[in-house]
Amino acid sequence: MHEIKQMGSAEEVTRRGFVLSAASTMTMAALGTFPGRASAAPIALAPLPYPDNALQPVISSNTLGFHYGKHHKGYVDNLNKLIAGTHYADMPLAKIVAATAGKPDRLAIFNNAAQTWNHTFYWSSLKAKGGGEPPAALKRRIEESFGSLGACKTELTNAALTQFGSGWAWLVQDGGKLKVVKTGNADTPLASGMKPLLTIDVWEHAYYLDYQNRRADYVNAVLDKLVNWQFAADNLG
Ligand code: MN
Repeated sequence: MHEIKQMGSAEEVTRRGFVLSAASTMTMAALGTFPGRASAAPIALAPLPYPDNALQPVISSNTLGFHYGKHHKGYVDNLNKLIAGTHYADMPLAKIVAATAGKPDRLAIFNNAAQTWNHTFYWSSLKAKGGGEPPAALKRRIEESFGSLGACKTELTNAALTQFGSGWAWLVQDGGKLKVVKTGNADTPLASGMKPLLTIDVWEHAYYLDYQNRRADYVNAVLDKLVNWQFAADNLG
């Protein structure tokens, strides 16, 4: 596990973003355009892939309703206000993230674009009756990189628990290897040219209504009962 410290160059992010395009069950041509939209249309709030009570009792419909309907929607609304009339208005969401990463004068756009992307990715990283064993091909890759599924889950838990303040824990593909990384606030492995496979939101708004300050209980429950290994497998290059 390591923290992401360096942003890739814009050119590298673009190049790596293109390499991201093998994304499997997503029918859109490129993860770089995940989630897709028509050019110059406002960035859309992607629909939840399940009803807001689908993840109960691990994540309540109350938490999911606020998280999606207030927080995620808020990032989308702010982003659309910030990019209206700028050249970012014609870009797919992931390209806005790459184009604003590491630019202090574009921090507000980056934060709202990255949070918009991260949340859509998070919803797909979870499913009702998740957890359990990853599909065979992913499990083999996990064992090659971490030694065992248990070691991978331990690294994900440690990343989630040691992220100081708000942020995210991620399973990523970096070159040929799988890694666990953590990012602070809105930061995302997309901005560093890594390929996200799945994520866990560790902002307090993701768990405080259900777990108060017990982040470990939330993270362990997500990994045991909700994590969508099939989605991670589909994202593998
Ligand atoms: Mn969140």
